[in-house]
Amino acid sequence: MKIRIGHLYPEYLNIYADRGNIAVFARRAGLRGHELEVTPISVGDEVRPGEHDLLYIGGGQDREQALIAPDLGAKGPGIHEAVARGAAVLAVCGGYQLFGRGYRGHQGDPMPGIGLFQHETVAGESRMIGDVLLDCELEPGERRTLAGFENHAGRTRLDPEAVPLGRVVAGFGNDGESGYEGCRVGRALGTYLHGPLLPRNPWLADWLLAQALAHATGGEPPELAPLPDRLEAEAHAISAQRARDRGGRF
Ligand code: GLN
Repeated sequence: MKIRIGHLYPEYLNIYADRGNIAVFARRAGLRGHELEVTPISVGDEVRPGEHDLLYIGGGQDREQALIAPDLGAKGPGIHEAVARGAAVLAVCGGYQLFGRGYRGHQGDPMPGIGLFQHETVAGESRMIGDVLLDCELEPGERRTLAGFENHAGRTRLDPEAVPLGRVVAGFGNDGESGYEGCRVGRALGTYLHGPLLPRNPWLADWLLAQALAHATGGEPPELAPLPDRLEAEAHAISAQRARDRGGRF
């Protein structure tokens, strides 16, 4: 199968090499005999619902976010429609913030978001930086851990009915006090965990690829053949241990 990824603003939102997540998708799809087609979607381009199996947006500093926020607002209805039709989403950090209702940075005017996720973000005085460990259950009964790195000033408050991506085992997460990290709406996931997120969490890469394949075929998410993932497991274990050693919370 061909899996079509739409990569939003690759030239603006790519802090901490968030683009490395695309390399993981390409490799893991290729090893299962699928082809990955990545199309950049930048300022002025349209999001045409149905054209992408997965939409990806990375992180960036407030300045880059402010540059793309008005254009992203114009793409909002197209992105909502794409997700309603079953496209998967991975939105990281700055992109995650703008996929909510909006972000108010340290200085400057509030930036409206597209409201796909039910949350709002306001920058605090201190930055929340370090390794994070989450407990996730994307499929009922299948608990997995997600290990990564966060660096954000924004405090993201989920609406009471919003579904988080995971519970914080160690680290700060959305706001440093709720114990939640990220947000989920069906196949759309948002998180503060930066690149390299997927190299050390291959189960999440495969979950997203399976959702993208479900969109491509119009069927159920397929079981993907397991891969050895020895180095990935080691990277996950080291990252998880760093987060545990750090504890977290301010
Ligand atoms: N500018 C945002 C914040 O500090 C996002 C930063 C990022 O993507 N690392 O909260």
